[in-house]
Amino acid sequence: MRQKENKLGIRGSDTHTVMFTDVKVPKENRIGEDGFGFKFAMKTLAGGRIGIASQALGIASGAYELAKEYSKTRKAFGTEIMNHQAIAFKLADMATRIEAARLLCMKAAWEKDNKMDYTLSSSMAKVYASETAMWTTVEAVQVHGGYGFVKEYHVERLMRDAKITQIYEGTSEVQRIVISRAILK
Ligand SMILES: Cc1cc2nc3c(=O)[nH]c(=O)nc-3n(C[C@H](O)[C@H](O)[C@H](O)COP(=O)(O)OP(=O)(O)OC[C@H]3O[C@@H](n4cnc5c(N)ncnc54)[C@H](O)[C@@H]3O)c2cc1C
Repeated sequence: MRQKENKLGIRGSDTHTVMFTDVKVPKENRIGEDGFGFKFAMKTLAGGRIGIASQALGIASGAYELAKEYSKTRKAFGTEIMNHQAIAFKLADMATRIEAARLLCMKAAWEKDNKMDYTLSSSMAKVYASETAMWTTVEAVQVHGGYGFVKEYHVERLMRDAKITQIYEGTSEVQRIVISRAILK
């Protein structure tokens, strides 16, 4: 195992590269039939994508709740900032995107539970929820103003954590490849 990576986000979870050299796996430990490895790998990834989409949904929801609460207490120009339409509209867009991401996650999970093909829905859920997480956390930092940039408030951590959801278990670009292939075939 190589040294611990020094990461931008998800710092509560350690990441190391694991190296395998000359490893022999006994036949009885093989997952499924010979020659279907790629298929199994893709299926595992599709399932994992629902998990990462859900992680992104949680990050987005947390940032939205923090921004909403802050907007009710912070006063600027004589009123709570939630009364400024520029802030209220950010919160409206956050709530709408989060709801859409939640429904996509639930659809993909429902299809998986019901043993249907969930390749398309899991990619849609993953790309939408992760981009919602990134957008929402950046906007949540903005709602907090200068306090959003300091570590005492949690939104900057959520912004750093959100980024990985656009990268692992297949990047946003890769999800769009999966989605476009499915809709164009
Ligand atoms: C914290 C962390 C934890 C991880 N955990 C795991 C793990 O547990 N298991 C595991 O297997 N991996 C893990 N990874 C690896 C992760 O899945 C990969 O980093 C990710 O899939 C992207 O691959 P890459 O880094 O090789 O990027 P690259 O493939 O080099 O991509 C670089 C850029 O090019 C784009 N790109 C690549 N190919 C195309 C294409 N055909 N069309 C358009 N754009 C393209 C990508 O979207 C990206 O923007 C982890 C990575 C991190 C950072």
